[in-house]
Amino acid sequence: MVSIEGDVKYLKGVGEYRAKLLKKVGVETYLDVMEYFPRAYIDLNSNVKIAEIENDSNVAVVAKIMDVYDKTYGNNKKKLHAVISDGTDSLMLTWFQYNKWLNDKLIIGKEVWVSGKVSIFMNTLNIVHPEIEFLDKDNVDDDFWKNRPLLPIYPLTGNLTNKALRKIVLNCFSEYSDFIEENLPEQILKKYKLRDRRSALQIMHFATSEANALQTRKRFAFEELFYTQILLARTKFRHKKIVQGLEFKLHHTYTTILKNSLPYQLTGAQKRVINEIVQDMTTNKQMNRLVQGDVGSGKTIVTLFCMLLAVENGYQAIMMVPTEILAEQHLQTISNYLSNQPELKIALLKGGAYKGKSKIKEGIKQGEFQIIIGTHALIQDDIEFHKAGFLVVDEQHRFGVEQRAKLSQKMNFPDMLYLSATPIPRSLALTVYGDLDVSQIDELPPSRKLVKTIWHGEAKKKLVYQEIEQELMKGRQAYVVCPLVEESEKMDLQDAETVFQRLQNVVFPKYKVALLHGRMKSAEKDEIMLAYKNHEYDILVSTTVIEVGVDVPNASVMMIEHAERFGLSQIHQLRGRVGRGSDEAFCYLISYPPISSEGRERLQTMTSTNDGFLIAEKDLELRGPGDFFGKEQSGMPKFKFASIVNDQKILLVAREVAFQIIDDDPHLEKEENRLVKEYYFKKFFDREKMIRY
Ligand code: ADP
Ligand code: MG
Repeated sequence: MVSIEGDVKYLKGVGEYRAKLLKKVGVETYLDVMEYFPRAYIDLNSNVKIAEIENDSNVAVVAKIMDVYDKTYGNNKKKLHAVISDGTDSLMLTWFQYNKWLNDKLIIGKEVWVSGKVSIFMNTLNIVHPEIEFLDKDNVDDDFWKNRPLLPIYPLTGNLTNKALRKIVLNCFSEYSDFIEENLPEQILKKYKLRDRRSALQIMHFATSEANALQTRKRFAFEELFYTQILLARTKFRHKKIVQGLEFKLHHTYTTILKNSLPYQLTGAQKRVINEIVQDMTTNKQMNRLVQGDVGSGKTIVTLFCMLLAVENGYQAIMMVPTEILAEQHLQTISNYLSNQPELKIALLKGGAYKGKSKIKEGIKQGEFQIIIGTHALIQDDIEFHKAGFLVVDEQHRFGVEQRAKLSQKMNFPDMLYLSATPIPRSLALTVYGDLDVSQIDELPPSRKLVKTIWHGEAKKKLVYQEIEQELMKGRQAYVVCPLVEESEKMDLQDAETVFQRLQNVVFPKYKVALLHGRMKSAEKDEIMLAYKNHEYDILVSTTVIEVGVDVPNASVMMIEHAERFGLSQIHQLRGRVGRGSDEAFCYLISYPPISSEGRERLQTMTSTNDGFLIAEKDLELRGPGDFFGKEQSGMPKFKFASIVNDQKILLVAREVAFQIIDDDPHLEKEENRLVKEYYFKKFFDREKMIRY
């Protein structure tokens, strides 16, 4: 039987060797070939003349190569230039990274198609890292493609060429396009004016205008986002309707005592969020709620109220945090809040083996402790709880839906609360946390100071050191943050080690400077952090390891070296480490050339706002979702067609449609949802099974 899921190696023009290359880019079946979309199109009719090009515009031109040369810049690095001309004027192409292949292909006299964003460099029109396609003889396509007005350009791998790919795509469609199946119900296609799957796939490769292809791509973004949301909707449905949760009662004992002994007034946002959580906890369905709140918005006290609600119902409340030092900090803070309720016993559980641990484990098991704070050690197999009723996961913005399910399973389904201090743009939140209810603490306590942020070039560093000294003289402390540096970059960059040496020996010899970096053992890091917190050091030089919410109220100034290399949300998190005391706080961003225009935009954003959500949106826009959570992002789904940045509107519609369907027909039993059910169970059920418990 012919199957569209057949092995691509049997396709005319492919074979074993090319099949291997294609596999590298995820193409294994005929259908994969058809879903392998061009990354650009050459439109030979809509090219502009070079003389008409304006600075900062996106253009595509066809021109001849007039000159090719390389040039040394910076620290012995090489860039490659090519000058092209179409008879009206000339345009410079620049590559900062290039290989021999490109160098060899750039032959004077050959015709090329290039596209990209034009900038002016040394008075010359320039495109940095253009898309380029060689229009020379050996690259001419067969008759079919030669006569097309629009040529697709594919993402390439190995020595696979566009010409070969076009041939493969053409063969694939002529043999198998009849077998393409629809995966969206008729009524959805109609209502949202989406093209049927077969003709949409064809257009992606054989469009006659780029606009048509771009419009058609939205159909695929829709289907992908739609099915992801079906998964989230079904997960949420399970939490709400199927999984039996706990039903807490308001006994007004521990919670009321805490309320009456608070040294400050809760903000309106804190009260609202506590109410939202209490609503969940007092129904018999499992709570799965995310609390988002900027650094310093006061998440700890909100959490503690809810923990005490569980405790006054006879359950254990558990708080899991990412590092030991945070666990210690929470222990201290919570002990302070509860100092007038000595009957409440708090356990601290850390990883590894240490003295007294087995006694703590036993106490947790026997129910001696009502409040348990710890690291990931809490979810190890040998930990047993007496009566777990409430689990808080702090700063865990990296947990995806599957990982969260595992946690809940381990704890035997208590009510779950997730805290995130990283404001997440709405579109990302709906994708990563789309199955959770969300509460926002969107107000800072009135005592909280905004951090004054100033951006300087490296030439002004002396001045910044003077400003730092002013603070140190007042008895305050400083952070100096350096980027993570790879060995090969060391010569050019201020790495933590070098900065530490210089600050201690040359700049601030009278003060005590400490160094903290990622290669240290976590016990060592905690020790230094604790000593800094106790003011045994004045200055802490570190890589970004201080990012997580450690509280040192006496620190009033931060300097970030190579701020141009940091992401916006990252700087925002770092900056949140100062301004936790009652005095004014400062953050100095030091940049080094060359700074891209995007880098400039980032630094300017940081100096102009303290609003974490605004910063997060900007960050997503500038960097894209891949980097948003940093390297360790595990909860971020990978999309083949959709873009979290560009398809936000489609996401909202797809989400609404998906949730409506699941609300109305959670098990997808209705005839009108047959197609959704088939496709969903084929493509997504593996993921759903991981989430089920
Ligand atoms: P985060 O949301 O970053 O975890 P924390 O819970 O650590 O913030 O709170 C930051 C600081 O603000 C703490 O020192 C806390 O005592 C204080 N705080 C919290 N809520 C209020 C409030 N309503 N009024 C004044 N101070 C508050
Ligand atoms: Mg916190």
